[in-house]
Amino acid sequence: MKFLLFLAIALLVVWLWRSGRRSDSPSDQATSTPPTPPGPQEMVRCAHCGVHLPHSDALVGRIGLYCSKEHQQQAEP
Ligand SMILES: [Zn+2]
Repeated sequence: MKFLLFLAIALLVVWLWRSGRRSDSPSDQATSTPPTPPGPQEMVRCAHCGVHLPHSDALVGRIGLYCSKEHQQQAEP
């Protein structure tokens, strides 16, 4: 009889633990913001040769954006 009582308590503990975990995980997903994927980079056009490149890689000149320092110097002497 003691064994049955112990088994019932053990099953209750396991059930409570599993239901607690199950209720925790969706709330965690709801509260934590999903990682935002990096958006598409803005592409710009080299004012000298016309090649397209990410804005972060472009060199900013006086009259436009350039793919390299050489093209900036050739276009803006
Ligand atoms: Zn260029």
